Amino acid sequence: MPLLRGFRMENHRVTGPVEKLPLPETLCVPLPGTEESYTRIVPEGKTVAKGQVLSAPKYAAIAHAPASGVVEAVEFRSVPACGNVWAARLRVEGSRAVRPRPVQGDSEEERVLRAAADAGIVDEMTGRPLYQELYRLRRHEISLLLACGLEDDPWCSSAWAVLRGESEAVLEGLRLAAAFCGAGETGIAAAPEDARAAREQFPGVRIETAKSRYPARAYLLRRLRAAGTPAGLLGPQALAALAAAMRGEPQTTGVVTVSGDGVRTPRLLRFATGTPLRELLAPCGLLEDASLVYVGPASHGHAVTDLDEPIPLHARCVTALLHPQRQHRMACIGCGRCARVCPQGILPWQIHETLHAEKVDPFLLLNVQSCIGCAACTAVCPSCLPLSAEVARAAAIRKSGDFF
Ligand code: SF4
Ligand code: SF4
Repeated sequence: MPLLRGFRMENHRVTGPVEKLPLPETLCVPLPGTEESYTRIVPEGKTVAKGQVLSAPKYAAIAHAPASGVVEAVEFRSVPACGNVWAARLRVEGSRAVRPRPVQGDSEEERVLRAAADAGIVDEMTGRPLYQELYRLRRHEISLLLACGLEDDPWCSSAWAVLRGESEAVLEGLRLAAAFCGAGETGIAAAPEDARAAREQFPGVRIETAKSRYPARAYLLRRLRAAGTPAGLLGPQALAALAAAMRGEPQTTGVVTVSGDGVRTPRLLRFATGTPLRELLAPCGLLEDASLVYVGPASHGHAVTDLDEPIPLHARCVTALLHPQRQHRMACIGCGRCARVCPQGILPWQIHETLHAEKVDPFLLLNVQSCIGCAACTAVCPSCLPLSAEVARAAAIRKSGDFF
C-alpha cells in the first residue's frame, strides 16, 4: 500500500474584503443544461427583469438574469468550467427587478430543496447544483456537515473570505442544509493557519482542520470517515445563497479571487454571472506579459484564450500567470509520486501503462471508479503525463466493458 500524503502547494493568499465589481454593459449568462429547442430559453429580443428565470433545465441549475436588460442573442459558446453551452447575451439597462417571494412548502425539508433548486444555487466546490449535492449527502447518511473554508488552489482565497465576511448567512445555510441531509452536527472546515481565526469568528462551532496538502478536502473526509464520522462539505457561497433563497432571492453573483503573478493587484471580487473575464482582470491590472489565464483551481482549471469569455457562478478563482507551466510530456520514470498523492489509493502509473499496452487488461484497471478527479496525480508527475484524464478514460472503459 503506498504512503498517501498529498502534496504541498505554495500559498499566495489574498487578504482584504470582498469588493463589488460594477455591472458591465453586457453580460453573457451561461445557461448550462439547456438545449436549443428547450422552451424555457428566454427568446431573443425580450426585455427581462433582474431575477427573472432565463432557463430551467432538468438536470442543471436554473439561470436567472443578474440584472435587468434586453436579451440581444442566445448563442452557443465556450464558457470556462462549463464547456460549450448556450448563453444569453444581456444588454444591461433599466432597474426592474422581480420581487422576491419567500419559498412555500409543507415542511422545512421541502422548502430547503425547493429554495436550492428554484434559486439556481451551484455548489462552488463541485460545480454541481446544490439540490443535487443535498440529495447526494442525504443518501450517504452523513452525521456531520461542514462549511468548507479549505482552498485547493494556492492562488485562491475566496472560500475563507466568504466565511469571514458572511458568517451569519453561511451558518444559517449550514443549519438548513444539515437539517435536510440528516446531519446531526455542523462545523467549519479550515486550513491550519485559519483555525485560530475560525474559533474566534465561530465560537461554539466545531472546527475541523485538514493538512495543508492537496487534496486537503479528500483527506479530511477520509480521516473523519475512519474516525466513525461520515461527513460532507459544502461551499460557503452556496450556503449563504441558500439562506437568501429561503427569502426568494436567486443566486446571480459569485465571489472570485483574481490573482497570479500576471496581475498587479490581486483582489477578491463579487461579480454578476456572465461578466466577461476582461472586466474582472481590468481592475486588478492584467500585465501585458501575462501568457496564461485560467479559470478554476490550478490542478484542474480551464485555460482561456479569449478574455471575452464569460465567468460562471462557481468559478472561485481566475489566475493570470507570466510563465505557462511546463508542458513537455515524457515517458514514466517510475518515481511513484502519483501513487503517493492519490487520496483514493489508485496507482495512476499502472493505469497509464495499461492504457498504452496493446490490449487493455481489465484486471489492472483497479479501483478506477473511485477517482474523485482531484488531478493531484497530474500535478506531481515530473513527466507531465495527463494521469487524471487517463484514469477517467479507464473508468469509462471499465464501465462500458470495451477493453479492445
Ligand atoms: S485524479 Fe484520481 S487518480 Fe489522480 S490523484 Fe486524484 S483521485 Fe487519484
Ligand atoms: S508520477 Fe509520473 S513519472 Fe512518476 S510514477 Fe507516476 S506516472 Fe510515472
